[in-house]
Amino acid sequence: MHNNFIRAMDAHIHLDQYTPEDQQKLLSEAAAAGVSQVVAVSMRYDSTLATHALAQAYPEQVIPAYGFHPEQPLPSEESIAELLHWIREHQDERFAIGEVGLPYYNRIEAEATGQSFELEGYIKLLDRFVQLAHELDRPIVLHAVYEDADIACDLLEKHQVTRAHFHWFKGAPHTVDRMIRNGYFISITPDVCYESEIQDLVRAYPIEQLMVETDGPWPFEGPFMGQQTHPKMVLDVIRVIADLKSIPVTDAASILYNNTVKLYT
Ligand SMILES: [Zn+2]
Repeated sequence: MHNNFIRAMDAHIHLDQYTPEDQQKLLSEAAAAGVSQVVAVSMRYDSTLATHALAQAYPEQVIPAYGFHPEQPLPSEESIAELLHWIREHQDERFAIGEVGLPYYNRIEAEATGQSFELEGYIKLLDRFVQLAHELDRPIVLHAVYEDADIACDLLEKHQVTRAHFHWFKGAPHTVDRMIRNGYFISITPDVCYESEIQDLVRAYPIEQLMVETDGPWPFEGPFMGQQTHPKMVLDVIRVIADLKSIPVTDAASILYNNTVKLYT
């Protein structure tokens, strides 16, 4: 396989969830394969501290993002205040806000078993993170799919945040159109190799607003079944995007790389 002309970034990975040995191995193998940088997102405060340490240990390769992942119980006001305070204290450093968003999968699961689900607290928390992204002028990494993406769009518009990245996005055509118009980015995971819903999304979304990601260590199926998720897998994602857009792989790679640089650096 010749990747000589390919340079790529993994625009979304939970690097702190790998062992220290794997972090080192994955980053050096990724760099050797042309995946020169990763955007490492955080789940909550402890994960934010771990991601910050990774960014300090690997400053050339790791762009950190700090936030609170929505697919977990809401934090206490005390712990969210601690996280927001810590982020503001580090505003001289380079980072993005994320992973933040709305708990689509937890809500659907709760509702499927007849439980009620209170979304309001999550919307209020996301509102604070969007406001923070505006205040600190940072890109924001969103976990917001299907109808939740419309709520996220409302908040982004309200706070005039345009540097938005909807990772592993899925949603209705009217939401896709709104996000394209607003200049928001989405990123595509290795599931584009075997999910027709994602292939259709790639056809519909302008390549100038696409990035590639793994969401590692989240495991994938199809040709990736049983493999540890590795930043190098974005190279397969790039090949599929090039094919769907009918352009050379090297062209696709350079556009996708430049998009990520433009948003994050
Ligand atoms: Zn994630």
